Amino acid sequence: MIEDMDFENRIVSPEFASVDDDTEITLRPKTLTEYIGQDKVKENLSIYIEAAKKRHESLDHVLLYGPPGLGKTTLAGIIAREMGVNIRVTSGPAIEKQGDLVAILTALNEGDVLFIDEIHRLSRSIEEILYPAMEDFSLDIILGKGPSARSIRLDVPRFTLVGATTRSGQLTAPLRDRFGVLLRLDLYTPEQLGQIVMRSAGILGIPVDSDGALEIASRSRGTPRIANRLLKRVRDIAEIQFDGRINEDVARAALKRFEIDELGLDDFDRRMLKTIITNYGGGPVGLETLSAAVGEESITIEDVYEPYLMQIGFLSRTPRGRCVTAACYEHLGIAPTGQQQQLI
Ligand code: ADP
Repeated sequence: MIEDMDFENRIVSPEFASVDDDTEITLRPKTLTEYIGQDKVKENLSIYIEAAKKRHESLDHVLLYGPPGLGKTTLAGIIAREMGVNIRVTSGPAIEKQGDLVAILTALNEGDVLFIDEIHRLSRSIEEILYPAMEDFSLDIILGKGPSARSIRLDVPRFTLVGATTRSGQLTAPLRDRFGVLLRLDLYTPEQLGQIVMRSAGILGIPVDSDGALEIASRSRGTPRIANRLLKRVRDIAEIQFDGRINEDVARAALKRFEIDELGLDDFDRRMLKTIITNYGGGPVGLETLSAAVGEESITIEDVYEPYLMQIGFLSRTPRGRCVTAACYEHLGIAPTGQQQQLI
């Protein structure tokens, strides 16, 4: 069991944290041109937006999926802006009763974007209200109870639903089928994140050179939210211990203090990988077993930690469980035993 970890304040967590509060909105790109990377997604979106505008129609419903912090909320805002409509933001867990969704839908204007984050967490009864709303822009509402109950049909404005989820596989098939556009966001390359760091530094007035930006970028686990957070934390160190400017050396020194290594792994990653090596011979180990051993929910391990560890080729998911790779042994400076050598 890994103890003493402060998951809430984990500096390389891709999930939104209170430390991001002050700048998350200012740093959000507002147009597709400002939005760095995800070229395929941008290209597709701009075609759909252009076409819908030409036909004077609302945009088809869009499902955005991919790990947290990659820019799904940002894209929803961009879609609304490019379509010239308003956006209403909510999330799956926030819509508790059918009445909540009815109130949201009836308050929309023609063409508006309704953004539902964590859409896989909507309850079944809410989903059922959503189906006819997405398909025919109408609501079937039951008034009263028992024999005197009657159903009335209510029209809602033609809106665009933008749903975001970390896992499209968790969406029910009827809900997924009602999205006309499905777009997957991938982790960013260090070069793209370097551009994002330079852009954010420009907005926040932080002096950083391109090597300094790339150093921060390459430790940001492919995630813009982490890159922006690291930039702000490195700035603090640069101002207190150096002359305020961020170059490669300053970035390195600061990130060393935060115990984030050259690949962006922190103490938790290293301990999780070491647990697989020392307790389970390098794997395979089942997700639930691993979850109990490291004291973290399996869903968080799967959605938050693993995508990056797999992307850098340190971890593989096999039908029998998780395995660490030869590259991981090398990075951690652990020599595989004879039996482990055969497995990797
Ligand atoms: P998600 O909804 O996927 O969790 P967000 O849209 O909230 O992610 O993005 C997190 C932060 O990362 C935003 O505040 C934004 O500043 C930054 N960001 C995300 N994608 C990009 C991008 N493509 N270019 C520049 N900044 C980005």
